[in-house]
Amino acid sequence: AAKNAGKDRVTVFDPALRQAQLERTRLTAGLRQAVEGGELVLNYQPVVDLAGGEIRAVEALLRWSPPGSRPVPPEVFIPIAEETGLIVPIGRWVLEQACADARRWHEQYGISVTVNVSGRQLREEDFTEMVLSTLTRYGLPRGALVLEITESMLLATTPAETRRVVAVLEALREHGVRIAMDDFGTGYSSLSYLRTLPVDILKIDRSFTTVLTEADHRTRAFTKAILELAASLNVATVVEGVELHEQAVLLQRMGCPLAQGYLFSPPVSGLQIDSLLSLNPWRRAA
Ligand code: C2E
Ligand code: MG
Ligand code: MG
Ligand code: MG
Repeated sequence: AAKNAGKDRVTVFDPALRQAQLERTRLTAGLRQAVEGGELVLNYQPVVDLAGGEIRAVEALLRWSPPGSRPVPPEVFIPIAEETGLIVPIGRWVLEQACADARRWHEQYGISVTVNVSGRQLREEDFTEMVLSTLTRYGLPRGALVLEITESMLLATTPAETRRVVAVLEALREHGVRIAMDDFGTGYSSLSYLRTLPVDILKIDRSFTTVLTEADHRTRAFTKAILELAASLNVATVVEGVELHEQAVLLQRMGCPLAQGYLFSPPVSGLQIDSLLSLNPWRRAA
């Protein structure tokens, strides 16, 4: 409480900060209602096999539209949800909804669903159990779920906390749930986390893809090295943020198996995923 009082005292004298704090307070209050008020929606973005053009997975991406106002971007509300602990009930809802939606996609097309999880969720005592029981409840096999984590999740954790997180991930993997490292290559110690954390899939961050061109030798060299490292670790790779045909061609040539990005599709509703799966618009003739 003393800490909060100190914070308030400082911000009173800075109108811009004060404004930002009021906005946060307003968003926090709104977020508290979001789950029960049915204000949260999941969109899904296809993950496409570069060689065959088939959809292999979909990533669940959370959308929040508070009543009477514009949608709030995840970059704004996810950090607030993490700091306030609201990410725990919100994350539970996301997992439920994703499993409910993914069941028919998995049954009909064999695709998996990937769900972003925050460090805060992984530190919940019953996380593993919660994940496994949700899968059971929706009749989804464990192999159909991928959980996406980021290295930032481990920032400011003690070695003991890191060991706990590693143990949780290992337990989930033993049960057949796969783990993906998201936004790979953006942090300061991506390589060391790749050594520490048990992961099945690497998602190469959009910042690599955006600058990837035939002419950019350096970016190509980095991307290729990551792809080769992943392959030799037996880790699958997904490249994020593929927007241009040229990028898809380069990546495929470099041996990247999977891609995600606006070139194929932005995140769309579950209904639109149904039609993409039945149309199979990127499939190549064999
Ligand atoms: P992320 O997990 O790395 O998701 C990829 C983001 O890149 C998504 O932004 C997606 O819309 C965007 N994207 C995909 N393809 C392209 C492209 O070709 N070009 C560009 N410019 N962008 C592309 P989105 O949906 O705004 O989500 C932002 C972040 O919010 C996510 O990054 C993830 O870290 C977080 N997030 C979203 N949903 C959840 C959730 O349910 N739980 C948690 N913990 N975090 C979430
Ligand atoms: Mg992600
Ligand atoms: Mg990402
Ligand atoms: Mg991201």
